[in-house]
Amino acid sequence: MAHKTSSRIDKNTKEKRQANFLDFCKQCMETKCCVEARPPISLRRRMIIEDYLKVIDTQIADVFQENNSYRSPRETEGNKCCFLDGETRKCLVHTVKPETCVAGPITFNIDLQTGKIEWFLKTEKICPLAGALFKNKGELQRHLESAKRELLTLVHDLDAEVLQAILRIEEPDTFKIGEDDLDAEVLSKLKPKAQTNRVQ
Ligand code: SF4
Repeated sequence: MAHKTSSRIDKNTKEKRQANFLDFCKQCMETKCCVEARPPISLRRRMIIEDYLKVIDTQIADVFQENNSYRSPRETEGNKCCFLDGETRKCLVHTVKPETCVAGPITFNIDLQTGKIEWFLKTEKICPLAGALFKNKGELQRHLESAKRELLTLVHDLDAEVLQAILRIEEPDTFKIGEDDLDAEVLSKLKPKAQTNRVQ
């Protein structure tokens, strides 16, 4: 069991999921992105996070909650994510945090009419990093590649019903920055219930 635990986390750490992140997130003390965030948690991500909490010897009561058909980290007072450290304002599970947290401020939508997965960037008014990325096309491209990898993993991992539920979440203050063909496996599990809303 111990071997399984460490191998899951080792693999994840080796991926260096956020090696490309700018310094903005360290400096930003607003932590708005961790309030009412409700990042979707696949079964695979749940196991990775639970393993990680054991490794860092941290116990959190009732780590996950269900919202409208999908699982996310439990919210505490003020709708803050339970992984947000109240003192340091950092994410306790940064190394293994949910895919949408790594991808932010890039989000996605699936358009079943075109068969595309569309990529959106949040506006600067809701995320300072988004403004910085918009002004630095090289960094934006680098982060987009990382976000695509994370979000494609998530859409593959989630059950159809869960994916449909999060696709119904409105995401204002974003604009489209690109799109890619989505593979047949994901498209077929979503059809025929087409939805075209965005998720964080
Ligand atoms: S998992 Fe971490 S980064 Fe994501 S919302 Fe929670 S505290 Fe923020």
